[in-house]
Amino acid sequence: MIFSLFYFVRWIIDIRRESKIHQSERIKKTIKKNEISKRNKFPITKFYNWINHWKIHPNEIFAVEYASYSRIMAYKKCPRSFEIKYLCRLKENSSRAAQIGKLTHEIIQLYTEEYRTNINKKIRKQNAIDDLLKFYERAIASDEITYPILSSEIVLYLDHFVKINRADNLKIEKIEYECNSFVGPYMLKCIIDRIDNGKKIIDYKTGNPKNARNRQLNIYAYALSSGGWEPYNLCFQFLRNGKIREWKYTKKLHDATELWLIEEIKKIEKTRRFEENRSRLCDYCHVAQYCRK
Ligand code: SF4
Repeated sequence: MIFSLFYFVRWIIDIRRESKIHQSERIKKTIKKNEISKRNKFPITKFYNWINHWKIHPNEIFAVEYASYSRIMAYKKCPRSFEIKYLCRLKENSSRAAQIGKLTHEIIQLYTEEYRTNINKKIRKQNAIDDLLKFYERAIASDEITYPILSSEIVLYLDHFVKINRADNLKIEKIEYECNSFVGPYMLKCIIDRIDNGKKIIDYKTGNPKNARNRQLNIYAYALSSGGWEPYNLCFQFLRNGKIREWKYTKKLHDATELWLIEEIKKIEKTRRFEENRSRLCDYCHVAQYCRK
């Protein structure tokens, strides 16, 4: 009781002291982080972490670490899976389909890195697929690939990659680019498959095209715009069927993306009970083994 009273009084004093500070944007960010670390010392937060087996509190996950499209979408698909993965930090089991996607991405990345300077000549060759498959052994040696996957299982994806890209005059600027930016006081992270000509953001998809959300690339463009707005071209390359989806990143999309990010982050920060969202997707869930039955 005396302990709680002591923390409560200290918390009030801290808040009053901070309210006198002139808050520029940068200072606000720092204060926000300090507020959170102070709140951590408050027993109720620790109590929540302890009772829920959380390694990190929902108030901290974005403010102290970072926000990302995949974190927010994990919550939207199933709050319980977000809790298991990001708050409890239990290890997920990636599916075979996810590993096929990972392997395909890895081969394309190694290929484009190796031939970046003469990619147009290389990709237009008759045997471009053979050049891609030269990187299969290196890619499959990755620790993240645990299932046996034959090269014949990914040939279709590589073939579509070649067909989609050989028609263009490619000027690849960045591959697997890690972009760290901000949305409000939160750090925003994304890893972008490819950027061409500084203005075209490309993401490869090996899954069902229906599941690709434009929002993902809007967020990448938002992060790359670092606070302002820049007119990027956005493109999904669907390696399953050889099709593409392209659109322009407008100022309207930029504003809507910012609003969506802030609203979703706030919603997750306020959540204390992460409900299960049972659906047919549970069959593909990477953390199903930890889920309440
Ligand atoms: S098994 Fe289903 S309900 Fe459980 S965490 Fe996964 S998606 Fe959510």
